[in-house]
Amino acid sequence: MRPTVRLTSVLALTVLALTALAALPLAAQRPDSLSAEVRRYVTVDAAVVALTRVTLIDGTGAAPKPDQTIVIRDGKIAAVGPSARVRIPDGARVLELAGHTVIPGLIGMHNHLFYTAAGGRASQMSYTAPRLYLASGITTIRTTGGRSPYAEINTKDAIDNGRIPGPRVHLTAPYITGGAGGGSMAIVESPEAARRFVAYWSNEGATWLKAYTDIRAEELGAAIDEAHKRGMKVTGHLCSVSYQEAVALGIDNLEHGMLTASDFDPARTADVCTPANIRPVREGTADPAGPVALETIRRMVERSVSMTSTLVIYELFVAGRTTPDQRTLDAMSPEVRAAYQAVRHQIDSTGRGLIALEGLRNAMAFDRAFVAAGGLLASGVDPTGLGGALPGFGDQRNYELFIEAGFTPAQAVRIMSANGAKILGVHDSLGTVEPGKLADLVVLAGDLAADPGVIRNVTTVFKDGIGYDSATLIAAVKGRVGID
Ligand SMILES: [Zn+2]
Repeated sequence: MRPTVRLTSVLALTVLALTALAALPLAAQRPDSLSAEVRRYVTVDAAVVALTRVTLIDGTGAAPKPDQTIVIRDGKIAAVGPSARVRIPDGARVLELAGHTVIPGLIGMHNHLFYTAAGGRASQMSYTAPRLYLASGITTIRTTGGRSPYAEINTKDAIDNGRIPGPRVHLTAPYITGGAGGGSMAIVESPEAARRFVAYWSNEGATWLKAYTDIRAEELGAAIDEAHKRGMKVTGHLCSVSYQEAVALGIDNLEHGMLTASDFDPARTADVCTPANIRPVREGTADPAGPVALETIRRMVERSVSMTSTLVIYELFVAGRTTPDQRTLDAMSPEVRAAYQAVRHQIDSTGRGLIALEGLRNAMAFDRAFVAAGGLLASGVDPTGLGGALPGFGDQRNYELFIEAGFTPAQAVRIMSANGAKILGVHDSLGTVEPGKLADLVVLAGDLAADPGVIRNVTTVFKDGIGYDSATLIAAVKGRVGID
């Protein structure tokens, strides 16, 4: 069993050496290191595997390719190409997959290991989230803000050491916010406090920092500066600081696309967050093609600030946009399901949700404009809000929403795989289906390019070339979301 490399064990190294360490190719997890609990989900563990006759959407943005064969050897992709040309090695385990689509393992960039939901529910999902992410084809996540950081560090270690099934985890520190915030978040009210916070969580192994709505520019600037000195990156769900201000401060990534941009409120006061700040984006009166949008996008692209789209979490607040998914209802514990359905019923029966349909459509247009301008867009589920966007299942809904937004299947897959890998700095090893990369692959029954709903038809998920059965993982969490 390979011990997990935690930053705490290499503190003596310089930041330069840490950066070099992060750039090393990732090693593949091997079947003999897996516990009995993990092995009960494994259906393919041969050293050499061939997936034949698949339609491939490879994550590079290339058009879907019919009748391809992918050869996996020792956890890595050894060969990819037309079935007529790729030689299947002697002794390979051959999976004949005509009628299936293969995409890269997806990379969830706003994928918490906790859950909040209607009725004030909050629970850590150390059991259900890793299984649901893996079952749904999400093989890498960035936690993007933690509530129980040590539970998340321990979950990551348990996955890395083969004790539980789950995706690769990029740890984000607990949220930092300003004096008007609170709850489970750290309130930082001086630049020194911000630097102290970043130093501590960097030493604990966090590679990302998440700033929240009430942080002030001075503290955010100090946090970004300290994070960058330590090789960490910073993202934010902002409000008191506008997108354009955060870009000027050197932030690396912005969460939630257009729907948390306070830039669109002409009456906003710097360093203060009020509900009025985000009314234009939520009510749909902000113009995704107007001067504020264009200037915000221009500055983000100019400074290489990436963006995470989380359309699914907002769709749940839009009247008339119920997205029935029996798998989601089945996975919820009974009380969580009842509370969620009651709120959804209220929104649909009154026709009044927190987000206007036009706001959702504008956010889709903003995502498209950002990509068209050369911006690096990624995707995440954010399993919070009403509680209807579950780990994995909600990521799959994002794919359907990207298609509705006007992206092609190849673009949507790239947003959900290669782009996340680039933002995380792991594109050398993950994010596309290319020889030499780790064999993280998702097998879907059906033709994804013809029907976006096929994204839900996951049969087998390969992580490090080991195949996990999606249905067994989903069955294991039935009735447990909202409990553990
Ligand atoms: Zn979030």
